[in-house]
Amino acid sequence: MPELPEVETIVRDLDRVVRGQSIHEVVVLREDLIGDEDPGEFAAALRGQRIRTVTRRAKNIIFLLDADRLVVNLGMTGRMLVFTAGEPLPSHLGVRFLLDGRRELLYQDVRRFGRLWRIGDAEWQEWEAHLGVEPLSDDFTAALVLDLAQRSRSPIKTWLMDQRRIVGVGNIYASEALFYAGINPRLPAHALSEAQARRLHDAIRAVLTDAINFRGTTLLDYRDAQGERGGFAERLRVYGRDQQPCQSCGSDIERIVQAGRSTFFCPRCQQ
Ligand SMILES: [Zn+2]
Repeated sequence: MPELPEVETIVRDLDRVVRGQSIHEVVVLREDLIGDEDPGEFAAALRGQRIRTVTRRAKNIIFLLDADRLVVNLGMTGRMLVFTAGEPLPSHLGVRFLLDGRRELLYQDVRRFGRLWRIGDAEWQEWEAHLGVEPLSDDFTAALVLDLAQRSRSPIKTWLMDQRRIVGVGNIYASEALFYAGINPRLPAHALSEAQARRLHDAIRAVLTDAINFRGTTLLDYRDAQGERGGFAERLRVYGRDQQPCQSCGSDIERIVQAGRSTFFCPRCQQ
């Protein structure tokens, strides 16, 4: 499942390729992928709109159009691909957007947990309101981390993944950030100290920024339906490394299960 760095990488790639292009036709092949709207209305309303820019909010891809936003959540297996008309189309296609110059923007989703929404300007604020703070924005401070953590009894790792508080940090980067901050993933969130909140804040930003620079861990390329691995996979310090020696202290990395998800940590570095 893509996290913030993967979506940010896709967004930057897509913006380069489709910015300024107009949507000439929309073909919905899988109607269950369209959220909160009749698929026919969705297609008709998008037709003729120009893509002004492609941005990100939380783990959503946002196409800013003339009159609306097209919001795409990739779910587990969603991919946005850019093809040229005439190329053999990939399988499991959900939606096709025909653009300028025989280009096609394709939404492909094998398991179909993803969603596409058309959100008008008037609804945008309401839609965005349930999402937490962006960890790479100026609003994200150590004081905010401390304040939010003090209201929760969840383990800090589970707390970090709650998208209503801080967005975009999923299973991989939660484990990595806690390692860099030297915090035990089982620590109850409300027990986080001021010094730990500062370290966690800095670690989240450093890990996400580093991962974006390396194009994420589980990157799915916009040109390639097969996808490819992002460069950050080589740089993971704890995630997926259970029973391997910690690169800082040599202890074995441990794996535990929290809220049904695997957590990886170093028992010596993260006490
Ligand atoms: Zn260690």
